[in-house]
Amino acid sequence: MAHKLESISPGASAGGVVSNAEAEEAFRTVLRWIGEDPDRDGLRDTPHRLVRAFREYFSGYEEDPAQVLRKTFSEVDGYDEIIVLRGVTFESHCEHHIAPIIGRVWVGYLPDKRVVGISKLARVVEIFSKRLQLQERLTAQIANTIDDVLKPRGVAVVVKAAHHCMISRGIHKRGSDLVTSRMLGAFRDQPATRAEFLSLVNDGSSE
Ligand SMILES: [Zn+2]
Repeated sequence: MAHKLESISPGASAGGVVSNAEAEEAFRTVLRWIGEDPDRDGLRDTPHRLVRAFREYFSGYEEDPAQVLRKTFSEVDGYDEIIVLRGVTFESHCEHHIAPIIGRVWVGYLPDKRVVGISKLARVVEIFSKRLQLQERLTAQIANTIDDVLKPRGVAVVVKAAHHCMISRGIHKRGSDLVTSRMLGAFRDQPATRAEFLSLVNDGSSE
C-alpha cells in the first residue's frame, strides 16, 4: 500500500500487506471488545463498511503530492504577485486517537518561475490530510512540498481545525480550534508580505 512515499511521511513505509478480510476481522474483535455482538443484524456488515471507510479516510498513502505539483507547472512570464488558495476544507484523522480533525487550510505562495493550477494545491492538501496526522505536521508537509517542487520565493500555510478527540473526550473543549502556520522565504523574511497573506486568511474566515 505505502510504496512511493517521501521521507516527509513518517511511518508510511512500515507494515506489510494486510488483506481486507484481516482488517474486517480486527474490527469484529473491537466490536466484541466494546461489548457488542458483531453477528447481530445491524452490525453484520459494519466491519466491511469500516474497511471501505478507512480506505477512503487514508487514501492519501497511495499518492505522492510532489508528483501532483510536478506534473503541471508552467512558466509564469513575469507574474510575481501572491497566489492564495483560501479556506479549502479538509477532513483528516489524528494519529493519537484516529479521531477526525475537521478544518480549513489557506495556502499562499509567491511564484518565481513556476505556477500550478489552484486545484493542484487543493490536491496536495487532500493527499496529506488523508493520512494519520498531527496538525503541525500536516501544515509543515503542505508548505515544504510546495517549496521543494515549485521553488517559489515564499510559501505560507495556515491551518485552522477542530479536533474531535478534544471535543468528544477528555477536556471537552467544544468550539475551540487549533491554528498552526508555516512561513517560508519571503513570508518569513518580509513582514509586509506576511501581513498581506494573513489579511487574506482573516478576511471572510469568521465562522
Ligand atoms: Zn487526537
